[in-house]
Amino acid sequence: MTKRCIIIGASHATAQLIPSLRQEGWDGEILVISDDPNLPYHRPPLSKAYLSGEKDAASLGIRPAAFYEKQQAEFKQGRVTSINRQEQSLSLASGETLQYDKLALCTGARVRKADIPGVGLGSIHYLRDMADAEAIKSSVVAGQQAVIVGGGYIGLETAASLTKLGMQVTVLEMAERVLQRVTAPEVSAFYHRVHSKQGVNVLTGVAAQSFVGTERVEKVICTDGRELEASLVVIGIGVIPNTELAEQAGLAIENGIKVDSYCATDDPNIVAAGDCTSQVSKVYQRRLRLESVPNATEQAKTAAATLCGQQKDCTTLPWFWSDQYNLKLQIAGLSQGYDQVVIRGDINSDDGFAAFYLQQGKLLAADCVNRPKEFMLSKRLIANHASVPAEQLADESIAVNELLPK
Ligand SMILES: Cc1cc2nc3c(=O)[nH]c(=O)nc-3n(C[C@H](O)[C@H](O)[C@H](O)COP(=O)(O)OP(=O)(O)OC[C@H]3O[C@@H](n4cnc5c(N)ncnc54)[C@H](O)[C@@H]3O)c2cc1C
Repeated sequence: MTKRCIIIGASHATAQLIPSLRQEGWDGEILVISDDPNLPYHRPPLSKAYLSGEKDAASLGIRPAAFYEKQQAEFKQGRVTSINRQEQSLSLASGETLQYDKLALCTGARVRKADIPGVGLGSIHYLRDMADAEAIKSSVVAGQQAVIVGGGYIGLETAASLTKLGMQVTVLEMAERVLQRVTAPEVSAFYHRVHSKQGVNVLTGVAAQSFVGTERVEKVICTDGRELEASLVVIGIGVIPNTELAEQAGLAIENGIKVDSYCATDDPNIVAAGDCTSQVSKVYQRRLRLESVPNATEQAKTAAATLCGQQKDCTTLPWFWSDQYNLKLQIAGLSQGYDQVVIRGDINSDDGFAAFYLQQGKLLAADCVNRPKEFMLSKRLIANHASVPAEQLADESIAVNELLPK
């Protein structure tokens, strides 16, 4: 009997896990169970080029169908409802039971739902998958008002895309500034200004209190008493990792499915990769749950090796990106714990800049807007725990490649 590896979920982690399993020598069956009817697709464009109409659905596929056929990976639509580790089996919502030899949990994350009166009205959407993006697109009417609840990356990207489509957009952020959780005040101010210049009404320190309408949303009542007309609302207030299956199967959970540096869970036959996991970062020496494509991809490579009996450490530096208007933000590392911010370039212009986050002189992270060289430099500096004097980082007369320690 050939062995069977089952993968739950079909997104970024899975699109990498399949070829990596074959590269590492898995010659058994690969069966993917997914509740999304599509083959794995790129999620980042859902708030960016896909939402704004610059990319179509056909271009979103991470790999073509023929690729998976060649890899002899089979996809089955369904929802896994429980895992029986003793029997090495899992149950689907359809009532079917399937046996596995190895299991990969790539269950990702789901949107955090808002508990706000009226949230069930029509034209109020979240954004996680292709169906959500389609639903938002079908509610877009140029010239009408849209309200975005949440001034994080997804909220701001959605604001930029809807603005491009001709909507009058308001962003409601309950914190004192947009991107508060992830950037320095200087970077928040930059994005606030950029959006305002594009005509977006950015309101901070204000939350949505209720949604009003008959069938579809017509108005958003804010906590400061303000009333905003809205024919479309998009809520972007974060995600929750899909850990329930793992938890019910008795696997350890710690803000995500707890995996070691090999993406192994406490069951030798089960690995996990992507947004659903938490793992100790080699760079930051603390357990992190990352929500990013590079993390899902790197963890999948490690998880595939583990399933094939190899040991490949997951050591990559966290990195992210965000596209808004013509600004390409690349983020190297995580800034939490910084004690100094150094800006290279003019943050008050629209030409791009880099914000370096230092902790006791060491580079922790960098936000690089239209500055790919600074981004590459930062990745190397952070991974090497290198120190560069703040005044040198800020000094544009020193070329970027000269900032690398010799
Ligand atoms: C709008 C948007 C923009 C983004 N932009 C960026 C960006 O610019 N850069 C970046 O790095 N990242 C971005 N991300 C985040 C990135 O998309 C995620 O980090 C990535 O999708 C994680 O992939 P994953 O494979 O871990 O899981 P997911 O993409 O979350 O997919 C998991 C899949 O598993 C399915 N599943 C879960 N449980 C079960 C079950 N029991 N049975 C069957 N199926 C199940 C889920 O329904 C889902 O389809 C963005 C995300 C969104 C939504």
